[in-house]
Amino acid sequence: MEKEEVESLRQSILEQIEQQSFPEETKTKLREQIENASDEEIEKFIKQQTSAAGSGGGGAVGEGQCIFCSIVEGKIDTVKVYENSDIMAFLDINPASRGHCLIIPKKHFQFLFQIPDNIVSQLFLTAKKIMPSLINVTNAEGIAVYIAQGIEQTLPHLVINLIPRVKDDKLRFAWERKKVELDELNMIANELKLRLGKEEETEKKQKEQEVKQKAQEEDDIDKIFRQIKRRP
Ligand SMILES: [Zn+2]
Repeated sequence: MEKEEVESLRQSILEQIEQQSFPEETKTKLREQIENASDEEIEKFIKQQTSAAGSGGGGAVGEGQCIFCSIVEGKIDTVKVYENSDIMAFLDINPASRGHCLIIPKKHFQFLFQIPDNIVSQLFLTAKKIMPSLINVTNAEGIAVYIAQGIEQTLPHLVINLIPRVKDDKLRFAWERKKVELDELNMIANELKLRLGKEEETEKKQKEQEVKQKAQEEDDIDKIFRQIKRRP
């Protein structure tokens, strides 16, 4: 892909982010992510979006429509396991192993950090709820809980994979272990702590502001009440 083409794609993604109804904080994070992404990452991102749109097949799914969103809307049949107003759990039709279960948020989010806290907790609480039964039903000896983000994410819609495992099942979630200096680990940890600290600071300030605002509102209501009471 030409450099100019990548740049124009980057701009169009940024424009699309602006049009979304995400909270401002999420938009800022997304914007930063896209602005800092390398040309290769932008290309990969676009490829993922187009392949997800194209693999619907059969004309049942509109162009650009996410398959998981279509499942939520009932446009694609699925074998449901559990659902509530925010999340849905169903069986993978091309499972990695018998009983491979998928848990998704009903609203379309690609990344974990974009999802509101209460839905994140529901996703993981559902995983917690399903796991013991899934082990019993499939006679598994263990379960892999797998979430792909960006790389090897086949659809741009977050999914928690619950993959029942047995010994010698030939499923591989392996990587080569590398050697690293302690200095390098400390450097990464320090940078992370610095960023996390800054985020915490911002959150704290926001909360303080909210508390102040609420106190002010209560004060105003109080004043109004007192005025009402003073009236004969
Ligand atoms: Zn979706």
